[in-house]
Amino acid sequence: MSVERVELSDPVVVGSGVAGLSVALGLPKSTVLTVGSLGSTGWAQGGIAAAVGDDDTAELHASDTMTVSGGIAVQRAVDVLTAGGSRAIERLIELGAQFDLDDRGALKLGREAGHQRRRIVHADGDATGAEVQRTLSAAADANDSVDVLEGWRMIDLLRDAEGVTGVLAADGDGRLVAFDAPAVILATGGIGQIYRHTTNPKVVTGDGLAAASRVGARLADLEFVQFHPTGLMAGLDPMPLLTEALRGEGATLVDNHGRRFMLQHHPDAELAPRDVVARAIFWQHDKRAGAFLDARNIDEFPTRFPTVFAHAQDADLDPRVDLLPVSPAAHYFMGGIDAGSSGRSSVSGLWAVGETASTGVHGANRLASNSLLEGLVFGALVADDVHHAEGLGGRIGSWTAGITECSLEQPEEIATVRQLMWDRVGLVRTGSGLWDAHNRLIQLGSALVASVPGRVAFEVASLITTAALRRSESRGGHYRADYPEPDPFQANRNLVEPIPRKTE
Ligand SMILES: Cc1cc2nc3c(=O)[nH]c(=O)nc-3n(C[C@H](O)[C@H](O)[C@H](O)COP(=O)(O)OP(=O)(O)OC[C@H]3O[C@@H](n4cnc5c(N)ncnc54)[C@H](O)[C@@H]3O)c2cc1C
Repeated sequence: MSVERVELSDPVVVGSGVAGLSVALGLPKSTVLTVGSLGSTGWAQGGIAAAVGDDDTAELHASDTMTVSGGIAVQRAVDVLTAGGSRAIERLIELGAQFDLDDRGALKLGREAGHQRRRIVHADGDATGAEVQRTLSAAADANDSVDVLEGWRMIDLLRDAEGVTGVLAADGDGRLVAFDAPAVILATGGIGQIYRHTTNPKVVTGDGLAAASRVGARLADLEFVQFHPTGLMAGLDPMPLLTEALRGEGATLVDNHGRRFMLQHHPDAELAPRDVVARAIFWQHDKRAGAFLDARNIDEFPTRFPTVFAHAQDADLDPRVDLLPVSPAAHYFMGGIDAGSSGRSSVSGLWAVGETASTGVHGANRLASNSLLEGLVFGALVADDVHHAEGLGGRIGSWTAGITECSLEQPEEIATVRQLMWDRVGLVRTGSGLWDAHNRLIQLGSALVASVPGRVAFEVASLITTAALRRSESRGGHYRADYPEPDPFQANRNLVEPIPRKTE
């Protein structure tokens, strides 16, 4: 297929969620290539964690983040994240974000699992992400320095022997354009769609991770997937999320007989770390004992949690009188493209930010509401780093051999991969299950790699499965039934250096 070439003199950002737009707004000039504002950001419910309360400090927030991380978060990166919280909220307010306020006009702060303080800043109850996305998209639209090209899907990175030199992208009609650019910042979000059950929107397929692996960028912690405990089991794909803030406000988890079951799993019961609650619900289903969220004690439900209320109503449920059937669902990816807080990857010319990056701030398990914060804080730092980078640009690279001949259609085998990942590489893993997944992925490989979405699914699924096989212990979001305890000798990050694919 023929490929047009377009030369951009400024950095190109791929993705227009909280991370991508935070970078773009911090650069003197940039182009944002994006499928659209359809990523996870707009769906975030709980809010943004920031130490802004009178009884709170960035150090306390950092300590909570480290505790939940399974011991392998990078303290330096966590300190940068939590220290940036207050400024990130101020900046959003300056850009026009409307957060919920208390009677005194101060920010109203919620609490979620793992936080010792009330520090969750939210908007319109549980519609925080929509407000963040609205604010940043409006700021980008109003800013001449940001050129947003919507409806473009990056299908590969361009590179030469020195590093990344641009992006190969397709528009909705299948037109292929090679955008040569001095710097590329990947902000394509997580990988939730590789699982049969996920809270992530359809566009969250791990394209950035897959493209970075093809150019040989170092990746990290790919076995760590966070499963949210409470997806609403209403037969929908993606699964509507029942925010953790509901449990923060006193909702409980009960079985078929209305008995609370979290008390026997963890002293913090419903507010135990996410992986503990998610596995407890998984086991409830496994023994057919049922799992429901009982939120009937929450006052003024429709106004405090309008998004959840609307999801429940769509499923013919009323949280004020009904128990809500719940299931875990793939929610957040702690792994990704290895990057420090400046976002630099191991490949020259390539940066990563937001959920597609792995900066070490989450370790094996993310503290609730730390990811919008990550996009905001690190987005600004990445912009600064890209702006001051030297010796980039003026080169014309090429794409992965054969990729322009691949179809852009979604092959039916992706459904098989998603089910396989859920069954074998999901909440409870075993060595034999992981090997089975590995072997079946190889069998499916040739059908998958004939299309770009299939190739991405194959690459993302294989990367996660292989990383999960390598970690023979349980830690955070990675639970091996054959190695159910943490192993102190594996208390470190898992770095992977893929072999770059040949270019044309
Ligand atoms: C239902 C839900 C609730 C959540 N609640 C919270 C919460 O309360 N607090 C919190 O901190 N976090 C929450 N999270 C997590 C948080 O929303 C995400 O981690 C965060 O928004 C990720 O931001 P991002 O900018 O990295 O990616 P995203 O917001 O996912 O944006 C990705 C962008 O990349 C684009 N894109 C993807 N692939 C391509 C491609 N190939 N080419 C071009 N563009 C591409 C998409 O169109 C999109 O613009 C929630 C997530 C979900 C799904």
